[in-house]
Amino acid sequence: MTNSCCGTGKGITLKQIPLTPNCCSGEIQDTSNASAPCPLCKTKGRYVENITVRHLLKKEMEEKAGQEDYYLCMNEKCDIAYYNVKTGIIFWKTDITVPLWFKDDANPRYACYCSKITQEEVMRAVREQKITDLNAIRKYYDPGVKSQCKIKNPTGKCCSPVFNEIIKKAKDLEGH
Ligand SMILES: [Zn+2]
Repeated sequence: MTNSCCGTGKGITLKQIPLTPNCCSGEIQDTSNASAPCPLCKTKGRYVENITVRHLLKKEMEEKAGQEDYYLCMNEKCDIAYYNVKTGIIFWKTDITVPLWFKDDANPRYACYCSKITQEEVMRAVREQKITDLNAIRKYYDPGVKSQCKIKNPTGKCCSPVFNEIIKKAKDLEGH
């Protein structure tokens, strides 16, 4: 058995995805310069690989995803999650299994999708447990934590930039 994070879905061969106890295994930077505007709100989206999109889609939507890669609409008011301008395929927020943390109506608002830690829980760990280290917070809530950002985070990238932003916000509130 490999250390890949999950079984393979229909028609997809999962390349080995490294599991790491710490956040993160890399890929923090979005290395793709390519972008295309969202068909609904015209905001430039963020490139996301097919494998990430497939993992987050509801079962009945998987087939529709094909083999193409997608863009994620980062506009907090837009109802579109993923889109591909070439094929015209669109996936709405309601077509995926997790709320997108940056959308207006996200509930719950996750800071970490691998461990399902909400932004509120991060704030609470800082406030009540005085834990201000990202990995320590993750271990506090999820001792056996493994990073699977590639398929769990809607961007397919590490959640640490957002996570750290919330820690900073919580620390500021505490006056540290
Ligand atoms: Zn949009």
